[in-house]
Amino acid sequence: MEIRRKPYNAIFFMGNYLILLYYCYSKIEDPEGFREQHHLYCIQHNIRGRIIISSEGINGTISGLKKDCEQYISDLKADPRFAKTDFKTEQHQKHAFEKIHVRIKDEIVNSGLIDIDPNRKTGIYLEPKEFKELKNRDDIIILDVRSNYEHKIGKFKNAVTLDIEHFREFPEKVEELKKYKDKKIVTYCTGGIKCEKASAFLLEKGFSDVYQLHGGIIKYGIEEKGEDFQGKCYVFDNRIAVDVNKINPEVISECFVCGTQCDRMLNCANPECNNHIPLCESCAQELEGACSETCKNHPQKRPYNGTGYYQKNTNGYNPYIGLKRKNSV
Ligand SMILES: [Zn+2]
Ligand SMILES: [Zn+2]
Repeated sequence: MEIRRKPYNAIFFMGNYLILLYYCYSKIEDPEGFREQHHLYCIQHNIRGRIIISSEGINGTISGLKKDCEQYISDLKADPRFAKTDFKTEQHQKHAFEKIHVRIKDEIVNSGLIDIDPNRKTGIYLEPKEFKELKNRDDIIILDVRSNYEHKIGKFKNAVTLDIEHFREFPEKVEELKKYKDKKIVTYCTGGIKCEKASAFLLEKGFSDVYQLHGGIIKYGIEEKGEDFQGKCYVFDNRIAVDVNKINPEVISECFVCGTQCDRMLNCANPECNNHIPLCESCAQELEGACSETCKNHPQKRPYNGTGYYQKNTNGYNPYIGLKRKNSV
């Protein structure tokens, strides 16, 4: 007799928590005041993660209980400034962050393109469904605007990638793309935010037919099951990298040490290196989660627990850090 195990755990654990990825380019007159108020709101709703606020808008990746995240979405959207925020929502079995950080920066994603306002000019949105239909056409160039450590572990089939360590370097690379000037260009990134400015910058540089994958790889994975996305998608929470392709997945990355096909993403256990790398099971065992012998022998090397994700010491963590009105909840 065939014994079939019911996936109790999967059903029970999936869905208690949500991870939200979102941004909204929208003018905030008093970023400092808004930051304070928003930080308190997050504490009150047990929201954790990283939120960046600037005079140009808001950008966040957060986690929380399903009910708290749903409340967050509806409260943020009730604010007319953020009514058009597009949330990418994924289920998770626990918080994806240990802390809440709500920070002020000059830009909600660091691009150096401070004068570009995506509300005035940006590439035409392609929704995931439209992207799926267009992506294999010969006259389309799919441009990955993310950095090396991201596209090395996963990218769209046939995508053009850039040799950059940080998105700030994107503007310098546009020269290399001149040969595609008369083609249709579709930019993509993790959640869509980088494309807002990247596509605008291309338009400014004389590219005429520029589109962007709205909601990025994550939304395409959720809505269209990620067809033709090869490898994993690097994310900015403690999952490190996630699967997005449920149609035709393949591994494109190689173990940093031995070169075998591998998509296990780790951070090097040496805190001073913290290299984001694919590391196979056996190399990781051998090097105790480090990317090299040198890192393995580093005096501050963190103990390897098989995940390659290292929590900062949260003893004594005070979520009110950064607030002016301490303990005023
Ligand atoms: Zn290996
Ligand atoms: Zn290392």
